[in-house]
Parts: sequence; structure tokens; C-alpha cells
Amino acid sequence: MIKVENLSKHYGEIRAVDGIGFEINQGEILGLLGPNGAGKTTFMRILTCYLNPTAGTIRVKDLNIKDHALEIRRMMGYLPENAPLYPDMLVYDYLRYVADIRGLDREAKRQRIDQLAATCSIKEVMHQAIGELSKGYKQRVGLAQAMMGDPEILVLDEPTSGLDPNQIIEIRTIIKKIGKEKTIILSTHILSEAEATCDRVVIINKGRIVADSPIEELKQSLGKESLIALAFRNADLAAVRAALGPIAGVAAVEPGESNDGILAVNVTCRTGEDIRPQIYAAIKKQDWQLLEFHQQFRSLENIFRELTKEN
Ligand code: ATP
Repeated sequence: MIKVENLSKHYGEIRAVDGIGFEINQGEILGLLGPNGAGKTTFMRILTCYLNPTAGTIRVKDLNIKDHALEIRRMMGYLPENAPLYPDMLVYDYLRYVADIRGLDREAKRQRIDQLAATCSIKEVMHQAIGELSKGYKQRVGLAQAMMGDPEILVLDEPTSGLDPNQIIEIRTIIKKIGKEKTIILSTHILSEAEATCDRVVIINKGRIVADSPIEELKQSLGKESLIALAFRNADLAAVRAALGPIAGVAAVEPGESNDGILAVNVTCRTGEDIRPQIYAAIKKQDWQLLEFHQQFRSLENIFRELTKEN
């Protein structure tokens, strides 16, 4: 449905988006995940035709953003990180105003506002001033605003940012409900957010894609990778590497944080099998004092940190 082709946006020396390409399928909830400054907002602004790319393009249903910005905007609802709300307006008046801009007639307007009030759970605040609402309610009003034109595609920039845990769950529930009918692209810098809401994640770092995977696949890969942390006295790294490196399933033997004559070593295992017995057998043949031996499985959080760490 959406095809991103070799897209770049440069601000002088800064490559906010640096040659990215991927596709978004109809009906998908796609999480655009990355640390602050990764280029998520820049990408969303290009997708919603508020910003021109430096190079490359995006096609939405085969329409090019460069030549068909108006048609594409009509297909999309956009909730920027700071929703464009007027604090002095009542929620109902604000939504009526948005409906007018979208060109809805009187009857359609009434029906649509009723529908959105139910979908976004804002019925009880329709006659309150926006400025008096909690951040969670403001965000739901923002969501209703983005959906006024009944868009096929919803683009949500950090929709749960700044919300408390209860408000986060409420917004996620609403997004999942909407996602049954629409294509949603949401950005977040929190992995658990993507995990809870999205079907697929595209992880970006410094303007580039570093991973693109269905959430389920990411989770399945987790049980297969583990790290065994070891610590020894009377051992050196080269000897440990020579003893443990050849064991089937060992992918890497790297130094850990050693001090006071204690050698710390991290062994990365890439196998579904438990190879601790083989590792222990290899250690037992040596004249080392084993001080520590524990296995930990990778979490999604670890993967995200590895993919987006500084260097
Ligand atoms: P955040 O989560 O903090 O909003 P982000 O992933 O959305 O981050 P962007 O806001 O797209 O990232 O920014 C990507 C990079 O481009 C950053 O280094 C940012 O400083 C830079 N940048 C964004 N907008 C501009 C601009 N108008 N002029 C110059 N640099 C910009």
C-alpha cells in the first residue's frame, strides 16, 4: 500500500533520513521505532506531505508524494507529537470545526462526531474546554481529529508520549481497535510500546533502517540466543577463546568487564540447545578457577539497545 523508495532528507550536514526503503502493507500496524533524533518525525512529515525529501520518494497506492500530495493527504490522518489543539475551545466545538474543514455536511458531521466520540472514548468530555483535559484525554481528542476524514491510513507520532501508565493502556486499546480497519504507522522510542501495539517494527537509527521484522519473529529469535557470563582467575582471554570458541553453537567469546585480576568473558550462543554442559566440560579440563557462570537470554530491549547503540 505504501512504498518508501531510497528516501533521504538532509538538513545541511545532518542526514535525518538517509536512504531508507521499505513497504507498509494494507491493514498493518507498523511501529517506527528508534531513539530520539533517529529521523522518525522527519519521515512522518514527508509521508504526510508536509516536508519534501532531499532524494527518493514514497508511493501511496501508486501515487507519488511529489505529484499527488493533495490526494495522499486526503487518505491520511496525522497526529503530530504535539496535537494541534485549541485549549479555549470545547471538545465538541473543536471537532465540529475540524469536520467543517474536512467539508462534511451537517448530517455527516453529527454522525461522524458521535462515532468518533465512541471510538476514542471522549463522550464524557465533549462539553469541556480542551485546556482543562488531562493529557490522556487531549491525546484522544487529537486522535479523533486525525480520524475525522475517515482516512485509510493513520500516522501517529509518539501517541503515548508523556502519558501515565493507565492513559497509555487506554490509548493502546483505542489504537488496536482502530487498527482492525485501518493501516496505522506509529512512531515510538519505547520498544514495549511497539511490542504491545504493532504487528511489525521497522527500527531506525541515525536515519537508517537497522531492522525490519514482524514482532512475532523478533520474539521467536529470542529463545535461540543467549549470553553466558563467565569469570575466571588464572586465565587469559586467548586461552579461553581457544577452549570455548570451537564448541558448536558458540558464536563469539568476548571480554567482559574484568578487574582485580579477574577475567570476565561473555560467550554468545546461537543455538536452541542448552550448551552449558559442553562449556563446563571444556572449562574443567583447564587449570582455571571458575568464579562465575550464568546464562541470560536476550530480551527485546537488549536487541533494540544493540541495534541503536552509539557506535
Ligand atoms: P524524536 O523522537 O526526538 O522526535 P525523531 O526520531 O523524530 O526524534 P527527527 O525529529 O526526525 O527524529 O530528527 C532527526 C534529526 O534531524 C535530528 O538530528 C534533528 O536534530 C534533525 N532535524 C530535525 N528537524 C530539523 C530541522 N528543521 N533543521 C535541522 N535539523 C533538523
